[in-house]
Amino acid sequence: MAASDGERRPGRFDVIVVGAGIMGSCAAHAAASRGARLLLLERFGRLHTRGSSHGESRGTRATYAQARYLPVVRLARRLWDEAQAEAAVRVLTSTRARGASPRSSPPSGTAAAPRPPKDRRGPGRGVFRVPGGLMAAVSELGGVIQATKAVGMFQELAERKGAVVKDGTEVVDVTKRGEGSILVKTASGEEFHGAKCIVTVGAWTRKLVKSVAGMDLPVQPLHTLLCYWKARPGRRFPTFASYGDTHIYSTPSAEFPGLIKIAMHGGSPCDPDSRRDATTGDVDLVEPVARWIDAFMPGHVDTAERPVQPQPCMYSMTPDEDFVIDFLGGEFGKDVVGGAGFSAGHGFKMGPAVGRILAEMAMDGEARTAVDAGVELEHFRISRFVGNPKGNLKDF
Ligand SMILES: Cc1cc2nc3c(=O)[nH]c(=O)nc-3n(C[C@H](O)[C@H](O)[C@H](O)COP(=O)(O)OP(=O)(O)OC[C@H]3O[C@@H](n4cnc5c(N)ncnc54)[C@H](O)[C@@H]3O)c2cc1C
Repeated sequence: MAASDGERRPGRFDVIVVGAGIMGSCAAHAAASRGARLLLLERFGRLHTRGSSHGESRGTRATYAQARYLPVVRLARRLWDEAQAEAAVRVLTSTRARGASPRSSPPSGTAAAPRPPKDRRGPGRGVFRVPGGLMAAVSELGGVIQATKAVGMFQELAERKGAVVKDGTEVVDVTKRGEGSILVKTASGEEFHGAKCIVTVGAWTRKLVKSVAGMDLPVQPLHTLLCYWKARPGRRFPTFASYGDTHIYSTPSAEFPGLIKIAMHGGSPCDPDSRRDATTGDVDLVEPVARWIDAFMPGHVDTAERPVQPQPCMYSMTPDEDFVIDFLGGEFGKDVVGGAGFSAGHGFKMGPAVGRILAEMAMDGEARTAVDAGVELEHFRISRFVGNPKGNLKDF
């Protein structure tokens, strides 16, 4: 669907991507790699810290309660490798991934942890205690991704292929002018024309989709915290996750020597435009983590001082915690594709797969890569919420 050079005119693009977090940046890279004349618009500064994709680390592993995510994680891992090779930059470092999960319902992608001597070496040795009722598990595809660096890598790769990345540009309207003709307007009055548009605005999805399409997409922004704790000297940790009553996740911390990131899945509803920056008072996001640390890894992490470095971040959560990857439909038909709900604490690792899928949907009207990789997109359709506010939860 790429425009020939003769057709290229200023202000006109094959694909306009709105929102330059990891999803928009990956979609931009995927579309530009296919030869699309691409525009990526971001309301804040480049690589800002006000959305969901900033920071030094995101964990990757293949443990999922819903098996539908495994093919997405595997596809993404292949695409992470390809992008790193193309950029000659390393943003993903493989690590061991360990976890604890209820014996009765272990997530897909886990296996019971091997007993010593096989499991005697490496980070995490002798650190974890697993209370009764839970089982220790190991997961394939463990690793740590440098988040901000990864977003920058995909933007730079897209630019190398001719994409235009414009920050400080807030999109306020998207309208359809005719078949394959989308007009995007910005807060400063600029107008851009695209054949197709991809909307990946994270926690702002509900607001923007409501105003441009009149649709109430149930994507709830949540204020949450990334907590860094002081590790006792000499400890090395794997990537780990615990799926008990409290869902805890952690990545080894390369960013702050001596600290380890351990945080809790969840948060409190917020308005992304009037979010407080303060991290004090978030006891609900700190106390359960401290209790978990004391129960699961006593003596290895200092909980007396509480997290020494709490950083605010935003989840954007659907009622069933599944992604939204779909055409907006209505008057937009297949000309506008939306991607949202990735910030249920686990989307980053799947960015390159989601980006490729969004780009193919916009450019081809379907995502061949998803089909070939065994990704079942019906779980991510908007229609799951029609007449059923809980979406995929009806499956349970
Ligand atoms: C605390 C925390 C920990 C996490 N840990 C992990 C983890 O360990 N592993 C993992 O895989 N995932 C993890 N995630 C999830 C992952 O970070 C998110 O899924 C991912 O960053 C979501 O990216 P996004 O592009 O959808 O949203 P965002 O990064 O928020 O990007 C959306 C962008 O759109 C822009 N925008 C909004 N409105 C407009 C507009 N009108 N015009 C132009 N631009 C606009 C925003 O400024 C923003 O830059 C975590 C998330 C959080 C919050």
